Amino acid sequence: MRTHNLGYPRIGSNRALKKASEAYWAGKATAEELLLTGKTIRYDNWKIQQDAGIDLIPVNDFSFYDQVLDMSFMLGAIPRRYHPLMEKERLPDIDLLFAMARGYQKEGYDITAMEMTKWFDTNYHYIVPEFTAHQRFSLLSHKALNEFLEAKHKKINAKPVLLGPISYLLLGKEKEAGFHRLELIENLLPVYLELIQTLDNAGAHYIQLDEPCLALNLDEATRSIYLDTYKQIRARFPHLHIILANYFECYGENLATALQLPVQTLHLDLVRCPAQLGDILEAYHKDSKLHLSLGLVDGRNIWKNNFDQSLALIDTAIAKVGEEKLWIAPSCSLLHSPCDLDLETNEAVLQPEVRQWMAFARQKLAEVVTLKKLASAETDDATRAAWESNRAAVAGKLSSALIHNPLVKQRVQAITDRDARRANTFAIRKEKQQQALHLPLFPTTTIGSFPQTKEVRAWRAQFKKGDLSAAQYEALLQEETERSIRWQEETGIDVLVHGEFERNDMVEYFGEQLSGFAFTQNGWVQSYGSRCVKPPVIYGDVSRTVPMTVKWSAFAQSLTGKPVKGMLTGPVTILQWSFVRNDQPRSATCNQIALAIRDEVADLEAAGLKVIQIDEPAIREGLPLRRENWDDYLKWAVNAFRISAGGVKDETQIHTHMCYSEFNDIIEHIADMDADVITIECSRSQMELLDAFAAFRYPNDIGPGVYDIHSPRVPTQAEMVDLLEKAQAVIPAGQLWVNPDCGLKTRHWEETKMALVEMVNAAKAMRLLVNAAQPS
Ligand code: GLN
Ligand code: ZN
Repeated sequence: MRTHNLGYPRIGSNRALKKASEAYWAGKATAEELLLTGKTIRYDNWKIQQDAGIDLIPVNDFSFYDQVLDMSFMLGAIPRRYHPLMEKERLPDIDLLFAMARGYQKEGYDITAMEMTKWFDTNYHYIVPEFTAHQRFSLLSHKALNEFLEAKHKKINAKPVLLGPISYLLLGKEKEAGFHRLELIENLLPVYLELIQTLDNAGAHYIQLDEPCLALNLDEATRSIYLDTYKQIRARFPHLHIILANYFECYGENLATALQLPVQTLHLDLVRCPAQLGDILEAYHKDSKLHLSLGLVDGRNIWKNNFDQSLALIDTAIAKVGEEKLWIAPSCSLLHSPCDLDLETNEAVLQPEVRQWMAFARQKLAEVVTLKKLASAETDDATRAAWESNRAAVAGKLSSALIHNPLVKQRVQAITDRDARRANTFAIRKEKQQQALHLPLFPTTTIGSFPQTKEVRAWRAQFKKGDLSAAQYEALLQEETERSIRWQEETGIDVLVHGEFERNDMVEYFGEQLSGFAFTQNGWVQSYGSRCVKPPVIYGDVSRTVPMTVKWSAFAQSLTGKPVKGMLTGPVTILQWSFVRNDQPRSATCNQIALAIRDEVADLEAAGLKVIQIDEPAIREGLPLRRENWDDYLKWAVNAFRISAGGVKDETQIHTHMCYSEFNDIIEHIADMDADVITIECSRSQMELLDAFAAFRYPNDIGPGVYDIHSPRVPTQAEMVDLLEKAQAVIPAGQLWVNPDCGLKTRHWEETKMALVEMVNAAKAMRLLVNAAQPS
């Protein structure tokens, strides 16, 4: 039996890469310094993996920005707009790479960045390859080769990792009409072969080709391209050991194809899909030479592996396949795990009892190696001790009072359909809300946050350090909130917000106040480029012990006669942006959070808030990768939202907000959330996405964002009127709200004020237009 790893976090355990790249971008470090940081991280990572006892260590998993962008670069798929930077300016590779990732605005150039999108269902974003009809490819850089040689020189048993050709094409986008990107395989494959040839020449015996698109629903034509392509790779390199890696889901209906691919090793994600082991073993012919890589250690979460469970799977596989054809691995690249639990030393931040249940990337390597030793009976004392302590941790978790709160479980058990339903239909509620709120046509509002200025952030930092007392900190926040309320009143906004000045982050703020959540000091995971996130950890039953937002919302409401909107993060978003416990279904955890939010909603209502917004920006990204699993997810996710919102009286107006726009395929479920008002991102697509709402005859109120908050540009009244007219052409005026695309937290006050004044004027202009059109 052998161990291998699919990829290691490249941000460095103290986020060295982030610091080095940002210093370089700011002109505070040289390219040499940045390249050296990269080199050091690579060496450290290889050493960590070698010391852990991993047999085959991935190389070319390192990246200064993104592995898909690296692939585009190596394959010479450089979009035309960057060609002058190559040809005329002769930018060094690293600068060209960053220009593609981040755009290039200097020396008279204004070149936009390449698009970025989520990597499958993770929170990692990759740079989307761009293809033209006659796209050419050529081997442009030797990154993979260089890193392989570096590793070889360091006596690392290295396995180059490449994104496979079919997934590479599928993850890209056609930038011209008239062709499908998979047709490019003919041009692409020769360059892949050339690339693999360089590695072969340099002495690589193994190559890992990642084909995560095999986890998606594919059609027959795509499957046959897979077969064809891999046959050609095989024919050219009969002696190379190719590991085909699929992860994040089952092979599903692509399994038969995967088993026919002429590769030596097939990797299975047995964390996401343990059931597929049975299917594969059933199809496995006893004389087959195929090796199986069992992805047993969860690369997507921070919990310790359950050794007994993993060993049972390994034993089942041994019985059919035999030890010599089995590999043990993490389920996917460890890119999605934080680096090292050993850095969590502050017991006040992460209590030891919770910490003992966790494993980060470095600890996961040790788990892989221990599993192999246990399964092959290579057990020494240390391995036996590791097994015992693993059993103790697993057993302790089963019964820990920290995790299990019988009252919470009972409450979830007792949820009925009635809890997930408002008392009356939207039509009835709308009338009662109108009587309570007296809103004009085209009511104006914002999405919640106002600028988090340097000052606001400095107060929070000083408060955390103890340089400001709680009373001083609160007084400052109160003044800021009051200023924001006064300004909104003056500007003539109809539904006000308090501004969220007290919040660091829309999930962390709630997690910190709910029980069942833990936080880390160093649990950073790369999100994109130098951006990292530190997700909260949901380890136990979630409950709300005290009101979380009522003080601020009630304070803001006490300042004004206009309605103030209470501002909450929804259960699905809190779930989606955290590391979630794996000892119960995600839906069960989501329901617990929903009940906590429901209590908060009830308290806000009791405190006099007539409008309450429950943000769900993450509901769509939680969609499973395979369509056959969508319905189940949407059912519990929508229901959790409804539980959180379902307890209020008809007069209380519930808003929700989502900051994206592809609703076509889930519009009925969005409608099923039954929020009285939904605000969505819309301005960048020029209201096109309202088509889905119009075609579906979306019944409740909608606030299509009328300006893009991601840019400091101040929109004009005229252009917003234009957008609202477009909206009104497909949605009745009586259903429309006027608001920005998203929260204003990242903007400056100056541009925010100007933009919102224009926005209010646009709404007023629309009211006049509509009234003028009405026969008197
Ligand atoms: N209420 C949040 C804010 O305005 C919503 C943020 C979001 O949609 N991501 O900041
Ligand atoms: Zn948003």
